[in-house]
Amino acid sequence: MKTKIIDGKSIGEDIRSNLSARVQSLMDQGHRPPSLSVVLVGDDPASQVYVNHKEQACGKVGIISRSYRLPASTSEADVLAVVKDLNADPDVDGILVQLPLPAHMNKFTIINAIDPLKDVDGLTPYNQGLLAWNLPGHRPCTPAGILRLIRSRETDLTGKRAVVVGRSILVGLPVATLLTHAGATVTTVHSKTTHPQSIAKEAEILVVAAGVPGLVDQDWVKEGSIVIDVGIHRTPNGLVGDVQFDQVFETVTAITPVPGGVGPMTIAMLLSNCLDAYGHRARTSA
Ligand code: NAD
Repeated sequence: MKTKIIDGKSIGEDIRSNLSARVQSLMDQGHRPPSLSVVLVGDDPASQVYVNHKEQACGKVGIISRSYRLPASTSEADVLAVVKDLNADPDVDGILVQLPLPAHMNKFTIINAIDPLKDVDGLTPYNQGLLAWNLPGHRPCTPAGILRLIRSRETDLTGKRAVVVGRSILVGLPVATLLTHAGATVTTVHSKTTHPQSIAKEAEILVVAAGVPGLVDQDWVKEGSIVIDVGIHRTPNGLVGDVQFDQVFETVTAITPVPGGVGPMTIAMLLSNCLDAYGHRARTSA
């Protein structure tokens, strides 16, 4: 009997141990290890923590990670030069530019400069286009992790009524596309939607990525639904999500906690994309 809590930590650990075995097998066959390069511009404290977590996670599965920590005053041209060098480096399999970038930089210009084959965050227009086409490519990590969490409770999403709160290129939009390709009927609500709670309340699957602490209470949640809380906020009382967990817990069939839900899956999917990038490059350069 499954508990109501969808344990992203444990599901993520299963994925990581599988990846670890695959990396070990590559090493046993005398191949070089996969590698990830992370570019961090500025000193946003949350980004520093995320990058540290990503580096540690790489180390645990045997992926080599290198970080390029640049001051916030770095010019866009200099960041583009770093990305260009990483694109050309045959020992680099994955490139990730940590967001947010400082305000003086054009996020699209920088992300668009990443070689799509090395774009393990799945954010380049090319990979987002492959996602729209439902063709193989690097899927954005958080959305791909969310789908895994949903599928851990509901394997067949055909005809399911899903609502996604948020329409960002990082989370909301790609989650809606993945759910649509999986056969769900999807509505996206966002900051300009009138009465989003009444729409959310129709959802059998509710994904909340609004970036507003505690936004979703029981008025938003349908009886028996699956709720995925993507939000993550540091408060004096610890980390909280976009969903008022205690308030909706009795109503739902399954729900992700914060922390321990979506966050660990994001990192697991990043590692998985790195290994896919490595495999693809090894096959095409053979
Ligand atoms: P974002 O700010 O880019 O987008 C937020 C979206 O929510 C927007 O589309 C906006 O229209 C919508 N929104 C805002 N207020 C709303 C409201 N009151 N009602 C309905 N919609 C509303 O944020 P994002 O990058 O998509 O991230 C969302 C949250 O997820 C943040 O808390 C972020 O920290 C978290 N996040 C977590 C992970 C993870 O791995 N756990 C990864 C990425 C993002």
